Amino acid sequence: MLVVMTQQATPEEIDAVVAAIEAKGYTARPIPGGERVAIGILNNKGAVDASHFLALPGVKEVIPVTRPYKLVSREFQPEDTVIQVNGVPIGNGHLTLIAGPCAVESEAQCLKTARAVKRSGAHLFRGGAFKPRTSPYSFQGLGEEGLKILAKVREATGMPVVTEALDTETFGLVETYTDVIQIGARNMQNFSLLRRAGQSHKPILLKRGLAATIEEWLMAAEYVLEAGNTQVILCERGVRTFAHHSRNTLDLSAVVVVCKESHLPVIVDPSHAAGRRDQVLPLSRAAVAVGAHGLMVEVHHNPKEALSDGAQSLYPEQFDKLCRQIQSIFDVFQPFHQ
Ligand code: PEP
Ligand code: MN
Repeated sequence: MLVVMTQQATPEEIDAVVAAIEAKGYTARPIPGGERVAIGILNNKGAVDASHFLALPGVKEVIPVTRPYKLVSREFQPEDTVIQVNGVPIGNGHLTLIAGPCAVESEAQCLKTARAVKRSGAHLFRGGAFKPRTSPYSFQGLGEEGLKILAKVREATGMPVVTEALDTETFGLVETYTDVIQIGARNMQNFSLLRRAGQSHKPILLKRGLAATIEEWLMAAEYVLEAGNTQVILCERGVRTFAHHSRNTLDLSAVVVVCKESHLPVIVDPSHAAGRRDQVLPLSRAAVAVGAHGLMVEVHHNPKEALSDGAQSLYPEQFDKLCRQIQSIFDVFQPFHQ
């Protein structure tokens, strides 16, 4: 249920509605919007009687919320959320590019790749310090040393950095070094990690799980918002299907649906979807055409030597080409997404 206030509603009237909701034992969540303030009613066990609130001063209407996810839905907030990462916007009207290697391997590797992707137009740098690997024998990442390297990259290039937090034990450490905290596909339904992310003041990049429905993905984002962090970026990275021609199947229809259902920014990771570099450029063009707010692409200065995901990592020259092509696509399609 959503209590929508009139445009002229005073702060005192809003406070009175919050108090009335809480008096019934529910949680009140005011949502300031461009046009009007609305107050979400959460934690109601059964149906809420709208008549309790309709008569209060300043109330315009009481709308039932039909979706199982509340805070992430357009029913709660019709306007797009735009997240600022150290001055870099992500969301409505912007095309934000995140690029870098799968894993942080060394300072030299990161600086070389970061300088190249920045020159081409990347806004944020990515690199895993804690890596979720299928095999325990594969490279697991440099841990804190990797986080220190990312901080040096930010200092040297001015690019904000994105890196993954694998568990609640290391979340705080990752949070102190990075600008955006990634929650990976395998952790999309790690509820304690989602709750911890909800306590953070830093934006969370939430990847879609390997076999997650859109509803499950949005409910995972709901955990983060419910715990207090409204800065969530959703990332479609392909789902598992019967296909053998790619590592996963990039589900671009999910981008279309999520943009309609949710006000949160949605970006696409074509690298983990494809698993091979020859598909990354065409998938990137398609992602921008359907309205993704950004891309996250794996790039390595020397993919043949990469310690993880070399086969899907672009050479810097390929990323440069990608940046030029997607800018043209964005310019053509942007008016259709307004
Ligand atoms: C990654 O981006 O480094 C990663 C491991 O991706 P995913 O969680 O989508 O597999
Ligand atoms: Mn990877």
